[in-house]
Amino acid sequence: FRGVVALDGPSGTGKSTVARRLAQRLHAQYLDTGAMYRAAAVAVLDAGVDPGDPVAVARQVEASRIEVSTDPRNLHTILDGRNVDRQIRDAATTTAVSPVSAVPAVRERLVAQQRSIISGGPTVAEGRDIGSVVWPHAELKVYLTAREDVRARRRAGELKLADVDQVAASLRRRDQLDSSRAASPLHRPDGAAEVDTSDLSIDEVVELLVGLALR
Ligand code: C5P
Repeated sequence: FRGVVALDGPSGTGKSTVARRLAQRLHAQYLDTGAMYRAAAVAVLDAGVDPGDPVAVARQVEASRIEVSTDPRNLHTILDGRNVDRQIRDAATTTAVSPVSAVPAVRERLVAQQRSIISGGPTVAEGRDIGSVVWPHAELKVYLTAREDVRARRRAGELKLADVDQVAASLRRRDQLDSSRAASPLHRPDGAAEVDTSDLSIDEVVELLVGLALR
């Protein structure tokens, strides 16, 4: 496989696990664009900048250096030389990431960086706007979905939280923000195959996508 797989969709669809496994199977780079937006949110929070202030957010992110590894077996996110693997997953970052990623200057900067990484070779890239904005000519475009109750249960499992209703509410809030923003709203890109993962195992989804990629 020599091309690019663009994997988009909301969280709780199995997207990250599927993307990583698919990259291993295809001997491709793995690019987690959500990790980059999360690192930008960490930069904002650590600097004491209000995530709701787009001008200050843009300035802070422009001054920050965000790096991600692309080896699906060895994932790291580095902010200004510091490993932020844990911090990018915490609750404060998860709340701040939607407003931070809605700032056009932040998206411009990170999209340019994502394109340069993808240009480096065969890649499985996952996010919200890969097939629509970052790499519209990807050889394979997939949009993963799942029923809301399934997504909330999966997210609660990942976060080891018992309160599925609370997880569902925060997922809904983030989906709403991601889908309604002006810059790169979450939607199924033109030409993307939609795969509902509600009743499929991770293995089944991976096999399905390997088949599509190697077709
Ligand atoms: O995929 P993940 O949950 O890590 O993404 C975190 C957030 O980053 C999303 O809720 C969205 O606001 C933002 N994001 C984005 N564009 C991408 C990937 C993520 O705006 N390509």
